[in-house]
Amino acid sequence: MEKYITTPIYYLNGLPHIGHAYTSILGDVMKKFEQMRGNNVFYSTGTDEHGQKNQHSIEESGLSAEEFLQKQSDNFKNLFVDLGIDFDYFVRTSKPEHKKIVQEILQNIYDRGLIVKKSYEGLYCEGCEQFKKKTDLDENGCCPDHKVAPKAISEENYFFRLEPYRQWLIEHIKNNPDWIQPAKFANEVLGMLREPLEDLCISRPKSRVWLGVELPFDKEYVTYIWFDALVNYISTHNYGHNPDFENIWANSNHLIAKDILKPHCIYWPIMLHALGLNPVKHCFVHGYWIGEGGVKMSKSLGNVVDPVEVVNLLGVDALRFYLINNMTMTGDSQISVDLLKQGYKLLANNIGNLQMRVLKMVQKSLEGKVPSKSALNDEDKKLITDIAGRFERIYSQEMSLETVSELADSIMKAGDATNAYFAANTPWVLAKDPTQKGRFDAVVYTTLECLRLIGLALYPLAPATAEKIETSLGIELNEFKAEFKPFELKEGSTIKVGDPLFPIVE
Ligand SMILES: [Zn+2]
Repeated sequence: MEKYITTPIYYLNGLPHIGHAYTSILGDVMKKFEQMRGNNVFYSTGTDEHGQKNQHSIEESGLSAEEFLQKQSDNFKNLFVDLGIDFDYFVRTSKPEHKKIVQEILQNIYDRGLIVKKSYEGLYCEGCEQFKKKTDLDENGCCPDHKVAPKAISEENYFFRLEPYRQWLIEHIKNNPDWIQPAKFANEVLGMLREPLEDLCISRPKSRVWLGVELPFDKEYVTYIWFDALVNYISTHNYGHNPDFENIWANSNHLIAKDILKPHCIYWPIMLHALGLNPVKHCFVHGYWIGEGGVKMSKSLGNVVDPVEVVNLLGVDALRFYLINNMTMTGDSQISVDLLKQGYKLLANNIGNLQMRVLKMVQKSLEGKVPSKSALNDEDKKLITDIAGRFERIYSQEMSLETVSELADSIMKAGDATNAYFAANTPWVLAKDPTQKGRFDAVVYTTLECLRLIGLALYPLAPATAEKIETSLGIELNEFKAEFKPFELKEGSTIKVGDPLFPIVE
């Protein structure tokens, strides 16, 4: 089966931060997880290159729009490459291919009378690029995010009517309980749908915003965010010109942060419905990363976690594993350089130590060869089959936030169980007693076999580490597959003691 995974496209007015890194890593973890299950995956991520915020940043930069957008977009793309993210397509909404499809869709919807022009008076916050209701403002009449009083503006704009589709959307959510995950966010959307939906403003006059896709039916306007940014998910597959489009779309998956729940789970499905398309198959919603102790990250507090700094210090795999292992399903999750170091230490003490201790033992007492499995007892067999069975079960499920989080947890638990087994069976004592040779072989084999299974399961989360583990066991893998058949480690194969998986970091 071919699956399609997307991240949101990111605004270019700042540098990529840990939140961007997280969503794009999550997408890559899900891609690798599904590939191990035998599915083809097409994964897109990219940058949103239009709108007022980007326009202001261009004007401040002194660069041409093209130069600025290229430079900022490259910051994201390069970071994702450094994070080992295997994307198939990097979206840039400034590409002509994308703009063309945006215009075709707008024209289609306009021709069918679904877009109306009307005068709009309201309070506009430039920081948010949105009209505000009085009830959205704080006690000083300011935007709560920007602490600036919005300007009273009156202008004509184009609107897309949402209300006629509200009942359909409510039914769709109720009939498809796995559409928006976790379920908490589906309930949040149902809450938003209790009241009639206001018309969605889809334009900005060019006098105010020039950086955007021109409306095909009115050259004085550009389209505002949603009919541009959201359309990336279908323009990537050349919607309207690709005979295979519906097959791809049938297995589509969006990853989003909770702040863009409303556009992705109300505006977007209604836009698609108006085009005669189904909503995305799954929308996975995650919370934010906040500083240690639950405080927001900010430059003034000095608690901003820079993904590049973390990678230089601890490596990509430790960051990837931490993010997936520590994300909470429904709330916000905490991160700091100290927490990341603790996470790194956990991996080093668990999987890193286990691997090094057992490999050194094989090198010293077994001439570097995997020993015989002929004398495994019930305890040995149970440990191996339990670990294999747990991974087998996890990989039999479709990817989801829960599945990948459960995977990280199971890997740590399997590591703990194997470490406990190794300590309890004292192979370093058995090694000295020739009458215990059979038992010694069995304990070492069991430990190596558990390590092999852990290395396989680890691949989506920490691909380079997983490869090192398998190579150290004398296994050459062209690709990682979710095959957790126990007792497959070959007796007599030659192990390789390399560098520690997680060397000590100051
Ligand atoms: Zn604002």
